[in-house]
Amino acid sequence: MAAQVISGTEVARAIENDLRQQVSELRSKSPHFQPRLAIVQVGGREDSNVYIRMKLKAAENIGIVAEHIRLPRDCTQTELLTKLTYLNESPQVHGIIVQMPLDSEHQIDSHLITDAVFSHKDVDGLNTENEGRVSIGDFSGFVPCTPAGCVELIKRTGVTIAGKNAVVLGRSRIVGTPVAELLKWENATVTVCHSKTKNLSEITKTADILVVAIGRAEMVRGSWIKPGAIVIDCGINPIPDLTKKSKQRLVGDVAYEEAAKVASYITPVPGGVGPLTVAMLMRNTVLAARRQLERQLRP
Ligand code: NDP
Repeated sequence: MAAQVISGTEVARAIENDLRQQVSELRSKSPHFQPRLAIVQVGGREDSNVYIRMKLKAAENIGIVAEHIRLPRDCTQTELLTKLTYLNESPQVHGIIVQMPLDSEHQIDSHLITDAVFSHKDVDGLNTENEGRVSIGDFSGFVPCTPAGCVELIKRTGVTIAGKNAVVLGRSRIVGTPVAELLKWENATVTVCHSKTKNLSEITKTADILVVAIGRAEMVRGSWIKPGAIVIDCGINPIPDLTKKSKQRLVGDVAYEEAAKVASYITPVPGGVGPLTVAMLMRNTVLAARRQLERQLRP
């Protein structure tokens, strides 16, 4: 039987509708209150432009004021840090993200940049303090968006995560590692694989839940998947397609057609994890705004 498709687009819409309601309730109690997100971009990579447009649209739909701050390609690390200091100290700004990768003519240390954002405004959940919290199962900070989206999609299937074997392909700082941490705290038994892992397809076949974040177009074949598994595909890979106006199309890290014949649930690309990443950013921004409002109202 073919797998059920987990529509990230639909789940994201439901989350965004709920957030719109939350913002409207907050504003009915505190009319001058307006959640505000600063999106800082260095340079003008086209893929970053596309992602930023999606974030701006979602924010507008929810009632978050999102400010797109464009810095030129010749922006230095010091100039970027100065901008972040200003945003950190601005009481009107509740959430700050720096769109990665940085498109700069100069050497900029991206870890230094993500760590420069105050933890309570780090709605991407990428600074070391928030990462550390997630790794020890403390969710009082911010959980990174793509990993949170993966877990949300798994939960929406209704399948219990606790006790399942989860395999995560990829150990990057923004996807693989935090997904593995989150699944561990959801009480799955987690195996993390990477480019040095031997017998990858044997390990993936043990997975009740398989999360793939390697950036290799359609590498995971149907024969790698345990029948009935949940497959979450984070990959976004452009491949040539002469039938398209743009001469390319996007595919995931999983060979979708083959995998859908074996899995019980599967996320499509596009329309799977991508929209959830945006929805989770919006959720974190509303949470940041709510926390900062509560602090202001505290006697
Ligand atoms: P990275 O390149 O940072 O990390 C890739 C990881 O995959 C590394 O841990 C690497 O191993 C591992 N890997 C690479 N090749 C292989 C292989 N042949 N076998 C096993 N493991 C391998 O990528 P990201 O984590 O940033 O992104 C992964 C994918 O997810 C990309 O397609 C990206 O576009 C997409 N993405 C999607 C998002 C969304 O919103 N949907 C958000 C972020 C990313 P090692 O550590 O040994 O090098």
